[in-house]
Amino acid sequence: MTGTVAGAVLVLNSGSSSLKYQLLHPDSGEVVHGGIVERIGETEVPDHKAALRLVFEEFADRGLDLTAGAGTPEGIAAVGHRVVHGGRTFHSPTIIDDLVLAEIRRLSSLAPLHNPANAQGIEVARELLPNVKQVAVFDTAFFFDLPAAAATYAIDRELAKEHALRRYGFHGTSHEYVSKQVAAFLGKPDVEVDQIVLHLGNGASASAIRGGRAVDTSMGLTPLEGLVMGTRSGDIDPGLVLHLGRSLGMDIDQIDDLLNRRSGLKGLAGENDFRALGTLIESGDQDAKLAYDVYIHRLRRYIGAYLVDLGGVDAITFTAGVGENAAGVRADALAGLERFGIVVDPERNAVRSSEPRRISPDDAPVAVLVVPTNEELAIARDAAAL
Ligand code: ADP
Repeated sequence: MTGTVAGAVLVLNSGSSSLKYQLLHPDSGEVVHGGIVERIGETEVPDHKAALRLVFEEFADRGLDLTAGAGTPEGIAAVGHRVVHGGRTFHSPTIIDDLVLAEIRRLSSLAPLHNPANAQGIEVARELLPNVKQVAVFDTAFFFDLPAAAATYAIDRELAKEHALRRYGFHGTSHEYVSKQVAAFLGKPDVEVDQIVLHLGNGASASAIRGGRAVDTSMGLTPLEGLVMGTRSGDIDPGLVLHLGRSLGMDIDQIDDLLNRRSGLKGLAGENDFRALGTLIESGDQDAKLAYDVYIHRLRRYIGAYLVDLGGVDAITFTAGVGENAAGVRADALAGLERFGIVVDPERNAVRSSEPRRISPDDAPVAVLVVPTNEELAIARDAAAL
């Protein structure tokens, strides 16, 4: 048992059947305790309220009372909620009141799998911790000001306007946090850094950031667009969806399931975990090899697009589970780009570490970095700062 609740922030990430939680100190980053309650609704944990009660009990078992001193310096400072979709309403972290919660619910039409669960987490946290400041941190906020050319789908403008159909981007908390870490690592203010951030986890996204502002990102109206992911297809011809409906008679829910949960690495190789994929490739599995090649091909396409978007970059950074750990992905994603000033040093790339690090030679024009993401810390800091 370490730490104290005084001044700490409870970060909650409520999914439809899970509740991820972490109590941490926003200044030092010290994690007091964290974990996940899974299979809510399927087990003896019937709903999010029961899940949060369980979390409180876990902390109590460690001698930590999350409810004690609420609203005073002895108690927790805030609850920070990860909220997936902020739509055209939320461009920065926001203190939650009834109106904000209603708006998060209203935005469920844009994120039907995520926002209702996020809203439910907020509701129970407000109920169980009524005197604690509750803050929503939006996954879309960093991309709120994407240039219109990058945010606009070339579809009927009236329809798009009426229904807010446009590119929003996701993983924004991670892209923002990592891009700031990159500037700090390079010893420059972020307005002086043009960079590409590659967030490669189970979900994956790329972003182009000019002087601290996102100018493009690979996810769109939903997190389905862009890179090949663990179970999501990323970019496909939208005509494929029409074909699945018309010629194969699939309904919308089946297509949703196919593209969000049975595609990507899983669809191509039967495995969505990169470690397992690597084992398959070593055993000579041709499907796994193709899955890897498609993954790398798509990733390189985005890197190329963003290099041109930005007219060259100061840094390219890998983050999240795959980006931080899979040295082979990093090497293959940037192989043969020496003429663009992009070089990966094999020895540096092979080093395993949980610290931000450079994997390009010191004298290479483009800094290639690995920077661990920390969305919980970013959310805690945002929540504490308000
Ligand atoms: P999420 O998007 O769920 O937050 P993470 O960022 O934690 O995901 O990334 C999870 C993915 O990271 C796993 O699917 C796994 O493929 C990959 N991963 C984790 N550790 C390693 C490793 N040592 N080598 C290769 N891949 C790894």
